[in-house]
Amino acid sequence: MDSFLKQFRDRNQAELRWLGELYQCAEASACPRANCAAAPSAGQLALSAVRGLQELLDPQSPVMPLSYSFVSVSELVTKQNIPCCSRLTWSTHQYREWAREAEQRLPNHKALPRANLLLIGYLTDRKCAEPSATNGSDGTWRVRDQSFSVCCKAVSAQPNWLQQFMLFPSWNYIPQNASAQNQQTRGFLELTAPPVPLTLDIASVAPERSCSEIITVADVIKVLQQRRRKGGVRLHVHGVVSAVCPLLDIAGKSFFCFCLKDGESSVPVLVLDVDHLCWQQCLRVGEGVCVSELRVCALRTLGGYKVLCVTPQSHLSTAQAYPDVTESGKEVSEGKVMEVKTESGMEVKRDVKRWRVTNPDSGENCVPPTARTKISKMISYKGVLTKVLDAESGLFELDGQVGLCLAYQPSLRMASSLRPGVQIEIHNVHFLYRASSICPDVLLCVCLRSSLRVTNFSGLQPGGASHPNAEAPALRILLEKNLGISEYLWLCHCMKTLKERLCPRWVREQRVAVVASRLLDLVLPPRQEGPNHRRDIYREMLLEPHCCPLLEYTVGSPHQELLSVKDLLLTMERECWHSLSLASLLPPSGPYLMRTQLNPLLSWSFHSLPAWSTPKPPVLVGVLESQGKGVCVRLADQTGAVDCVAVGSEDGQSHCTASNTAWLGCLVSIQRFTMVVERFLKTDFPSWRHLDDECHVTHRHCRVYIQFCVSDLQILSPSASMAALLSTQQEQKAGDGGPKEKGAAEDGRVSRMEVTMAQKAVGGGGHRNRDRDSEQARHEGLQGLAVTVGNSCGVGPTDAAGGSELSADDKSPRPKIPRLAEERDGAEYGGRSSGAEGGASEPGAVRGRLQSDGCVSVVFRVESKQGLTFQNVYTSSVASGRSLCFHVTVMMFGEPRLWAENPRVHPLEASETMGVEPREVDLQFVEKSVCWFPLLQVDGVYRLVAPHTQDPGVLCVPSAPSKGRAVLHSTPYLLVQPQWRLYTLPPSLRPAPLPMVTRAKELVVMSVSQVLYSSSASALVSFQGLITSRITLEENEKVPCFPEEYSETGADVESSLNVKLTVGDLAIPGQIIHVYLKLSGRPYIPGLVPGARVLLQYFQRSVSRTDSVYCRSVPISCVTVTALPPTDCGTLPVNLPVPAVLLGEWALVGARRCAVGRVRAYVTCVLYLQMQWVCSLCGNIFKQDRCVQKYPPCTSTIGVFQAEAKVAVDDGSGEAQVWISSQMVSGLLGLGVAEWEGIQRLVKVRGHVRVYSQGRNMVSIADAEDPLVEYLSSLCVSTVVCRPPQPDMPAEEAIPMYCRAET
Ligand SMILES: [Zn+2]
Ligand SMILES: [Zn+2]
Repeated sequence: MDSFLKQFRDRNQAELRWLGELYQCAEASACPRANCAAAPSAGQLALSAVRGLQELLDPQSPVMPLSYSFVSVSELVTKQNIPCCSRLTWSTHQYREWAREAEQRLPNHKALPRANLLLIGYLTDRKCAEPSATNGSDGTWRVRDQSFSVCCKAVSAQPNWLQQFMLFPSWNYIPQNASAQNQQTRGFLELTAPPVPLTLDIASVAPERSCSEIITVADVIKVLQQRRRKGGVRLHVHGVVSAVCPLLDIAGKSFFCFCLKDGESSVPVLVLDVDHLCWQQCLRVGEGVCVSELRVCALRTLGGYKVLCVTPQSHLSTAQAYPDVTESGKEVSEGKVMEVKTESGMEVKRDVKRWRVTNPDSGENCVPPTARTKISKMISYKGVLTKVLDAESGLFELDGQVGLCLAYQPSLRMASSLRPGVQIEIHNVHFLYRASSICPDVLLCVCLRSSLRVTNFSGLQPGGASHPNAEAPALRILLEKNLGISEYLWLCHCMKTLKERLCPRWVREQRVAVVASRLLDLVLPPRQEGPNHRRDIYREMLLEPHCCPLLEYTVGSPHQELLSVKDLLLTMERECWHSLSLASLLPPSGPYLMRTQLNPLLSWSFHSLPAWSTPKPPVLVGVLESQGKGVCVRLADQTGAVDCVAVGSEDGQSHCTASNTAWLGCLVSIQRFTMVVERFLKTDFPSWRHLDDECHVTHRHCRVYIQFCVSDLQILSPSASMAALLSTQQEQKAGDGGPKEKGAAEDGRVSRMEVTMAQKAVGGGGHRNRDRDSEQARHEGLQGLAVTVGNSCGVGPTDAAGGSELSADDKSPRPKIPRLAEERDGAEYGGRSSGAEGGASEPGAVRGRLQSDGCVSVVFRVESKQGLTFQNVYTSSVASGRSLCFHVTVMMFGEPRLWAENPRVHPLEASETMGVEPREVDLQFVEKSVCWFPLLQVDGVYRLVAPHTQDPGVLCVPSAPSKGRAVLHSTPYLLVQPQWRLYTLPPSLRPAPLPMVTRAKELVVMSVSQVLYSSSASALVSFQGLITSRITLEENEKVPCFPEEYSETGADVESSLNVKLTVGDLAIPGQIIHVYLKLSGRPYIPGLVPGARVLLQYFQRSVSRTDSVYCRSVPISCVTVTALPPTDCGTLPVNLPVPAVLLGEWALVGARRCAVGRVRAYVTCVLYLQMQWVCSLCGNIFKQDRCVQKYPPCTSTIGVFQAEAKVAVDDGSGEAQVWISSQMVSGLLGLGVAEWEGIQRLVKVRGHVRVYSQGRNMVSIADAEDPLVEYLSSLCVSTVVCRPPQPDMPAEEAIPMYCRAET
């Protein structure tokens, strides 16, 4: 040091101290060099640094930049923890101006803080410091000292900068997360100005070539076309760089290629030589270069395609090569030179709008609903990165309007510099227009042919977002599945939304990608993987015309919209009021109804919309749960939960309600579901003419839920029970082969469906295997790509072709189904049992297992189920008062059985059902246990497990009902404890049939006609039927209401709601029964809409005064939807086929009369005809626009026209009298619309008109001279209305009538 300082003897103390620091820094930086063993002395370096600084600042002035301190790489890497920049030549004012500008451009970002640091280090492209490691280049540039190195980038890198000690006057430093695997790359250096060489390296100077030796690209092509060539010929080629492909690392070998162009001809140059990988940073599209010592090679993988290869002796000389160091070091020249060059060199698309004008399909306003294919264009683009959309997945935004996707270029070395504010230039990038609705209209996609270059580093701090790396799950899935761009965008969108909606409550963040990729498989149509879909990296990079997966893109695929539960609810609510047409809710008699008749018809309606019929079909993802507050299971995500009416069905034949408790806790997706909205209106319309006036609607609310069949659910991640069930069923299938499976399918509709589920969930089955074959058959090049990815995330090369957990599942003999993050403890949540116990892997005999304290189980079949109600229950857990509860009557088999661990869905063992006689038991579910209500169904077989106990006594049933409860029957009862679990045992898990026990008579499920005609029908009946209509009844009684109790339990209760359901027989047409159902004061039952099949249990059968049979609900009544309405039924009432009947047969005493029949008969005479205007409010006669009621005076100004007639009809077999009401009277009289309206006007003057038959004539009590009376009288007896039956009369002239038998 002293000898160094001696040279500056004339300097002052401060300067000497500063020089001392410089010397120390040089000393720390003086590491062995790659190309010559001897490291320069610190003195030499320090001296060169002083000289370099003087030249940079002002060669004349001897002033030293004392405000700057020297820093070595080690100090920078270890001590600099925040991003910073250093600019030697800038004044403070210049820096402030620069920072202000950068921040103004992107207001939400902060500029890099300034640090007055001068960095000294050795610039190299070698991985290791040791000179012996000659082949250690991976194309990354680094600055190093004796112990540390830092990656770096430069906008105008030159090959001759390498292997030199440098002084770096201007740079940005971005420290990176220290958790990165490699301790050596803990930060990132951006060189904003050329460094100052401190030693001159002679070896890097290229030998001069004479002009005669250098040939053009066109000459090269001639050479390549020659069949034979002389071995060992070296070419020196001059041309313009037209493409620079990314640096790839395939199977541990790094390489890249670039293209030289001269006019129309172009030739690819392959760089395999490690010493020249550094050129990748130095080559810039549009620049003229001269490359020496190239040889001709034939590529085997491309069928002998000839390319040029760089040899170890090759040299690259650019237009700016070997510049005078001081000249190029001038800060000012940098940015401008680049810009001018690129502008003149090629077409740079800067203005997207200009492209839109010339593009033919720019006029379209939305993405077309059907997927179609477009061809992308190759362009060049220059712009500023304004936003990082999804760094992990390589999605960015340029200039505030253009999307940029880097995912198809697995080499993301540039990525660290891609923060907002960076100016980039991309060549040969694919231009995609409206590829997907979830990205900007214009999307630029880089592929293996594209070159992305930073033209000016960003002066802004990174936003804190992680930068993309090849391990990103989305990128891995892209390679594995060979996704198209719109599919990839959908996947990224899916991962983002699923993370928001499911993490961390149900899914671990690391598992989101697996779930998203599985969902993508489910929504994508099966793909035909042809040879065109295989990727070949050499072809993509080298061949003209260019061909890669981005060339053709499918617009908007998959087209499903990933809807959150909250959005679904909001959309449906909006849709329900939007679709409401009050007039359509009224029957044809609507215009003739008074206020009291009209408004009840409007009070309830429903709107159903099959999800798959919407223009953008939604797909829902959520967890099935039951919270014990309502009668439904719910589909929940973190945004909300929606009620589900779930049924099971197979082949459209057998119908049942979803009953498998294993569904609880499953993460599922569903596409095939129907969205249903029930509307509740309180209205006050005086007549139908006022329906347009919204002010008559006093209150409205709606209920939204979805309906689906469980076979349409797609499991994304099963619950513990479902996983065990699926694996058991797969084992059965594998072990027993065909016959067994067939048997299981015959008696178990649930089971077969679930096996399919299993295949889907674990990714098994033929489709998957085919994918795999094709994947293996892919070109080695792509495997190489995968290896690059695979290696970096720790997967071995053998797994690389499909190397994720997904395909690992395929190989394992037993399906290993990925589980969700959180397997909650069962005590807290009904369905999702604790996963720690490892499913049903080791069930059976009692074994001493430490972590499990045993459990007790009992098996039962449900015989009948009561409704969910609020009742006064007195138990130890419930203090007092009314709580939500229900009962089921079950047939219990065998004795309580002891297990070492929870058997869950272990197949039923013979010992479980033996020992004692089956016995009827009443199970009582209170409070939390109520969560089992939605899935406990009649005829279902369940295993009831009491965990954490070894005492069989807990499941032993006391022989008599216990304390304080009125003993009504002798059935023993058991109170189900909140921690007990129920596991459905579908037929496939029951090898032996259960003992047959005849069901008690009152529990037998009847048909509608059995209820109607059975003389022995008991007071309480259970029956099945089809809802044909639903009407809300007027509130005629005040229902006791306990709002505070409802809100306490969280149950969803309508305050006062009574409905009349018309339920038809499933087999015999025309047999209907009215069911009066009190829906208030109990959790609301969704799904009771026309068209739904229902099972009604515990309904009171009553006979009216007119001898007709109807049913009425009692507090314990239970209504279960067993099948959904046909999806096309829309909002109209269901029309069942009405049987044709003969009057003669109908009138027979004791006949099983249809309630509704179709009679084809002739009117023999009109017995009575009345027309009147009545007051809409009070029902009195309405005459001349006024109500006639005087005491008290009625102020109503609204009248309604009504007409009725009584006629005698004859159909040949018998006679009947028929009442005909308003809207049909005009038809009876054969009046046209104008005549009918004319008569209404005439009647309005009189108030009312009445004629009746007397003998062969019609008479009236009122004025017989009245022309209207005369007209009507003559009309009634005319042949227009009544004719004697004539055998030759055509059938069409008869009046078809739908009649209701009343005797
Ligand atoms: Zn491409
Ligand atoms: Zn009135």
